Parts: sequence; structure tokens; C-alpha cells
Amino acid sequence: MDCPYLDNCPIFAKFRSEGMANIWINGYCKKDGGRNCERKKLRDAGKEVPITLLPNGKHLASLAK
Ligand code: SF4
Repeated sequence: MDCPYLDNCPIFAKFRSEGMANIWINGYCKKDGGRNCERKKLRDAGKEVPITLLPNGKHLASLAK
């Protein structure tokens, strides 16, 4: 089951464009509805999601560019 935020998740678009896709998309966005994704957890809670936040909870500064 896909994450419900697939269509408008900014980081998901970056994954696709930067070819890092399969690791994140298959591991998080298209797995268990994205429930293991730290971005989704924040969003579900109505909190702001930093653009640099990866699904695994780490930050990647280059995502801000
Ligand atoms: S799983 Fe995470 S990174 Fe993937 S679309 Fe959902 S919120 Fe975005």
C-alpha cells in the first residue's frame, strides 16, 4: 500500500528526479502505507516537516537545494 502523501510529498518528487528512488520509495513510500516514514509521522501529527528530513529520521542538507 502506498503512502497517502505520495502525490504531494516534496521529497518524494526529489527522490524520483535524483534517481535515489528505489531505496526510499520501495522501503518507505510504497511499503505499509508509509507508516515507518518519519516524514509521514510528523505530517500525520500536523507538525511542520523539514525539507531535509529523510524517511529514516536523518537529515540530508542537499535536499534543501
Ligand atoms: S513515505 Fe514519507 S517520503 Fe514517502 S511519500 Fe510518504 S511522507 Fe513522503
